[in-house]
Amino acid sequence: MNTIDRRSVLATGALALAGAATHSGRAEAQGAAKPIFSVPAITIPIAGEEGVFPVRRIYCIGRNYVAHAIERGSDPTREPPFFFQKPTDAIQYVALGAVADHPYPSLTKNYHHEVELVAALKSGGTNISPEHALDHVYGYTVGLDMTRRDLQNGMAAEKKPWEIGKSFDHAAVLGPIQPAAKTGHLAKGAISLAVNGAVRQNSDLDKMIWSVAEQIAKLSEAFELKTGDIIYSGTPENVGPVVKGDVLLCKIEGLPDMSIRIT
Ligand code: MN
Repeated sequence: MNTIDRRSVLATGALALAGAATHSGRAEAQGAAKPIFSVPAITIPIAGEEGVFPVRRIYCIGRNYVAHAIERGSDPTREPPFFFQKPTDAIQYVALGAVADHPYPSLTKNYHHEVELVAALKSGGTNISPEHALDHVYGYTVGLDMTRRDLQNGMAAEKKPWEIGKSFDHAAVLGPIQPAAKTGHLAKGAISLAVNGAVRQNSDLDKMIWSVAEQIAKLSEAFELKTGDIIYSGTPENVGPVVKGDVLLCKIEGLPDMSIRIT
């Protein structure tokens, strides 16, 4: 299985440890308190750059394409976007040109693909206006919001948090960050996902109900966005199940393809 590049994780981890006392007010208040063990920093390689992108939080937008909102039972009118999070260590990084082994997770019998554009923030704030929101975007990549649909639906039916359906190990699949300085901002263009060569999801970024700029603006009303936050911007219609052995190929116009094999 491909995991985040170990060297970059270690390099960033060392930096994080060196800066820990200044980054954490609590650590300063306690004096030279040292962590009792190290936990790897989560980083994503950046295409064409030596530096890596450190991840602070993963936000995900739900039901952001009209046809997907309908298939999930929502009113497709422009109701406010809703958000959930995945843990940063749920990231599975997929290198360019690789077909990364992705483990079929425990507990589910209905494991779904959701191809999504991912935006990575270089800065943040609160109450960011849509007009200025894209100034905070460092870059983009292709992502998969992998979902244990049976567990998500089961918890939703009981009006319980559906964390178990969304926030498990390897559930946040993505490729290297492509700097927006090179790709430009992505507001339109084809987005698709094929399983074993057969196209399952096929839409256009311009069919998002809430654009990336609007997502950032809305998110920043609820949370202080910060450097290192990434946003999964929702999936188009025709989500569906995968099984062991399936090969998923994800495409977004203007970005390199990303692919995994379910194992
Ligand atoms: Mn999703």
